[in-house]
This record gives sequence, C-alpha cells and structure tokens, in this order.
Amino acid sequence: MTLRTISPGETIGILGGGQLGRMIALAAANLGYRCHVYAPEADSIAADVSAAFTQGAYDDESALAAFAAQCAVVTYEFENVAAAPLAAVTAHAPLHPPARALEVAQDRVNEKAFVEELGGRPAPWAKVDSRDDLRAAIARIGTPGILKTRRDGYDGKGQWRIMTPDDAETVELPGKSLIYEGFVAFAAEFSVILVRTAGGEVRFWDSAENVHKDGILDTSTVPASPVILAQVEAARTLAAMVADALDYVGVLTLEFFATDDGPVFNEMAPRVHNSGHWTIEGAIASQFENHVRAICGLPLGSTALVTRGAVMENLIGDDASGWAAILADPEKHLHLYGKAEARAGRKMGHVTRLVR
Ligand code: AMP
Repeated sequence: MTLRTISPGETIGILGGGQLGRMIALAAANLGYRCHVYAPEADSIAADVSAAFTQGAYDDESALAAFAAQCAVVTYEFENVAAAPLAAVTAHAPLHPPARALEVAQDRVNEKAFVEELGGRPAPWAKVDSRDDLRAAIARIGTPGILKTRRDGYDGKGQWRIMTPDDAETVELPGKSLIYEGFVAFAAEFSVILVRTAGGEVRFWDSAENVHKDGILDTSTVPASPVILAQVEAARTLAAMVADALDYVGVLTLEFFATDDGPVFNEMAPRVHNSGHWTIEGAIASQFENHVRAICGLPLGSTALVTRGAVMENLIGDDASGWAAILADPEKHLHLYGKAEARAGRKMGHVTRLVR
C-alpha cells in the first residue's frame, strides 16, 4: 500500500472522544496537525484539545461522511465502533488502521480464531449462546474459567468468573453472545505494542509488564521481568504476523499471558494502548507520535528507551484527587485527562516515572 503524505497543517479525524484520542491529538498538535474529533457524547476530553468536534452516533452514515469530508485521514481510538458504517468514512478519506482490524478485534471469538489461524495460542475457548453451550464448554475446557461478552467488554466489564460447574447453573446470562475461556495460570502479563507503516515497516516498543487490579490495568513497568523478556520474541513474531495479515497502518497492541509453556495470547487492540502510556516520556517517539506518523505516511521515530526504563501507574477514580502529592515528587510526570466526574473504576489520568 502506498499512502499520500499528509502534511502538517492538514486535518486528522479521530473517531472516539476519550483519553486515547486526547493523547493522539496532543501528539498530532506537536507535529503541526489539526484534529477533528467525532464522538457520540456531548463532552469530549479529546475535543477539548482539538480544533474541531462533531457530535454524532457511530452509525450515523451521513454525519460520518460529512466529518470524513473535512479530514485528510481518519483514525480511531475506540474499537467498539461498528465497522459497516465506516464505509461512509472511507468514501471520503483513508481510514487507518483498516476497518478489518476493527472487525477482528472487537469480537473475542473473531480475534481468537484469527490469531489461531496465524499459529498463535489463546486460552482454550468456546462460543456460548445458551446455558447448554456453557455446560458443554465447561465439560470440554473445565473450571475455573471466565465467561465474557464477545463484544463491548473492556476493563473487566462483561466478565464473570466460573469457579465450579455449579456456577454455570446460577450465573445470570446477559442475553448477549458470549465466550467461555479456560483460566490461564500465568506468571505475569505483558503487551506487545508495534507501529506499522503503509510500506510494511514494523517497529516495537519495549514490552511492559502489566499488573491488573479488578480487571483494570494498574501498572505497566519497563523493563519487564525475565520470565517475560524470554517470551517477547515469540510474541512479537505473532504480533507482526497479525499486522501484516491485516495490512495494518498505525499502532497495534497485543496482550499476552507469560506462562510456563510460553506466551498465551489474551486479546488485541487495534489502537494505541494504556500499557504504552509510558512511551510519552520513556521512548524517543511515543506510541501516539508514531501512530500519527504512520497514518500520515511520515517516517517513523525511534521506539528506543530514553532511560533504563519507566513505571506507569494509572489513576483510577479518586486516585486523581491526589494530584498535589504526585506533583510534589519532581521525578513524576502527571497526566490528567480532564474528566469532569471521578466515578469508581474510571481512568482519570496516569503517572510516569522514568527509571534512570
Ligand atoms: P481482558 O479484558 O480479557 O483483557 O481481561 C482483563 C484481565 O482479566 C486480564 O488482563 C487478566 O488479568 C484477567 N483475565 C482475562 N482472561 C483471563 C484468562 N482466560 N485467564 C486468566 N486471567 C484472565
């Protein structure tokens, strides 16, 4: 694929109005671009730092078309956008990453099947559309396991732990298509974040070791522990195959469990990722900057570390009210997303400290 170079001064469209869009817009602004955010909510923290904002539904094809007509290129920060209406976007502007990446990544069954086809290994899984399916899944895969919605799940939402076969009889099924996954006994969790250009050049950032609390990312640490470092190469090989198979342009994230038998694929996100926020200060070019470079057809910046490593800590809910104490430590980089309301479980900001 060749791509027209989108020059500084032109407009980048961003589907999705949250913190990832905000940080893409800030990186784009540094390179002289204007951003136009499209999101369904009236208040958007991405729009707060962008030149233009369209409030519209993700399936409103005429609003999407009018938005795309004002953009030189369109990207997304949110993967739960229906793929079909995006034809209204691609009629007017290139869309990177491609809609196919969304289709694969927004459905846990599709993404696991896709990765298996490329030789990757997810947790044992089964599609569940009824209680009978769940019983059959448990009979084949065993317990403990996790029942998840196929679509629209994030930050541990739409997930139910199944500890014994009896739980299958009592769990309240949400009336949505589900997937049952065997519980993976992992030593640690990590992510592979890469950027790919239209010409097929791929660069990786150092893999962070990720610790989750209540299903939400809590910390990302670089360098990761040795058990992870020994598995990064195999995980990168799979991630690059995924990117190539999708003719991917932009930043792509794959999450893995490090197990005694090597990396087990958990899920992918066709976008910049929370576990890559440390790259803003910790890498020569951040995930946000290189995403902008890739979708605009510019040369990539180096993904190398600027110091020995970095520790990123998420500020969830009330954590953000501790901003004054964080700023009192001169080694800490504070990022607040400007969200008006600090609800429990909501990502309000993050803090990065470089390891020097
Ligand atoms: P997910 O939204 O699927 O990434 O799940 C959020 C977190 O729940 C993961 O990062 C893991 O810590 C945990 N988790 C999800 N699926 C599994 C699994 N099959 N086995 C063990 N832990 C899991």
